[in-house]
Amino acid sequence: MNPYTPPVRPDLAGEVPYGAPQLNVDVRLNVNENPFAPPESVVDAVTASVQRIMSEANRYPDRDFIDLRTDLAAYLSEESGVHLSAEQLWAANGSNEVMAHVMAAFGGPGRTALTFPPTYSMYPEYARESFTTLVNVPRRSDFTIDVPAAVTAITRDQPSIVLVASPNNPTGTAIGLADIAKLASVCLQNNAVLVVDEAYAEFRRSGVPSALELLSEYPNVIVTRTMSKAFAMAGVRLGYAAAHSSVIDALRIVRLPYHLSSVTQAVARAAIAHAGDLQADLETLREKRDALVVDLTARGLRVAPSDANFAFFGVFVDRQAIWQGLVDRGVLIRETGPEGWLRVSVGTPEENARFITALDEVLADLGQGALVVDE
Ligand SMILES: *Cc1c(COP(=O)(O)O)cnc(C)c1O
Repeated sequence: MNPYTPPVRPDLAGEVPYGAPQLNVDVRLNVNENPFAPPESVVDAVTASVQRIMSEANRYPDRDFIDLRTDLAAYLSEESGVHLSAEQLWAANGSNEVMAHVMAAFGGPGRTALTFPPTYSMYPEYARESFTTLVNVPRRSDFTIDVPAAVTAITRDQPSIVLVASPNNPTGTAIGLADIAKLASVCLQNNAVLVVDEAYAEFRRSGVPSALELLSEYPNVIVTRTMSKAFAMAGVRLGYAAAHSSVIDALRIVRLPYHLSSVTQAVARAAIAHAGDLQADLETLREKRDALVVDLTARGLRVAPSDANFAFFGVFVDRQAIWQGLVDRGVLIRETGPEGWLRVSVGTPEENARFITALDEVLADLGQGALVVDE
C-alpha cells in the first residue's frame, strides 16, 4: 500500500492502542480473567437463548433493555443485599463502555476528573477520549487512599467526576466503606459524582462491604460492575452500573442508539439466570488468591493485601527481567503499576503451581540482588 497520513486529531499524535501483550504461552495470568470456562450446562442455556433471539434479529434490540436491567437489579440484591429498581441500573459493552458513558455525560472539555494512582490504566484514556482533564491524588505507600489529601484536592480542583477502583487494579486494595462514604459526601458538597469501580467486587473477602450500600444515602454515587471477571464472561462484553435514576437518565442521553445488541442482552440474561453455576468456582478462587499471597510472602516478597482475583507483589530491582524470565518458562503475568511491582492473576491450581515454580527458578537465577532491600 502507498503511504498515507490520515487527518488524525493532533492530541492523538504518538498514542498507541491500549492493551496487554497477547502472547501465545501456556499459562496466561496477565488480564485477571476467570480461569474456569463456563460449564457446559450454561453454554447450552446461553446458546438456546441466542437461538431464540436470532429469529427476531431483523428488528433493532430493546433500546432500554428493561428486562436485563431488572435481572441485574435482582442479581445485585442477591449478591449484596441492596435492593434496587431497574431504573437504577445501566449496562453497556463492558464496564469500559459504561465508563465512556459516565465520562461523556459528566466530564467533557473544561471539566475535571480525579483519581487515585496507582490504579486502572484505562482511566487516563477515558479522560483523553472525553477531553476531560485528569487530576491524580497518589495513594499512600500501602495503596490506601489518603482521604484528607483527597478532600483537599476535590475542594481545590472541583472535579465533576471522582473515580475510585475498589478493589483496586493493579494493587487489589479495597477501600473501607467509611472512607468511600467520606469521599461521597465531599463529592456531593462539591457537585461531583463518585464512581466506585467494583469490577472485582465478587472476590472481596468476607466482611468487606460493597459501595452499593451507600446508594440510598448518596445520590451521586455510581457503582460499576462487570461480567468479565467473576462471571467468567470477559468475551461477552457486558458491564453495568447502579446509581440514582437521574444519573442513569443522563447516561441514556449519551449512549449510541441500540448500543447493546439483542445477542448481548440475551447472553447476559441467560448468564444471570445461571449466576450460581458460573460463579461455582468463586470460593476456590478466593482461597487460591489467599494462598498465592501467602506463597509470595513466604518468598520474602512484599505483597499487597488483595480483595481481587490477583496478587500484586515486588519489589524487584528489575521487574522486566522477572517478567521475561517467567515468559521464557511459559508463564505470562503483567508488568504494570509502580516501578518494581508485578501483578499475577489467580489461575487454576495447576497454573498457580506452574507460576510459583517458574518464579522460584527465576529468583534463583537472579540471586540475592533481585529484590529491593527495605531501609
Ligand atoms: C477488568 C476491569 C474492568 C472490566 O472492564 P470490562 O470492560 O467490563 O471488561 C473494569 N475496571 C477495572 C478496574 C478492571 O480491572
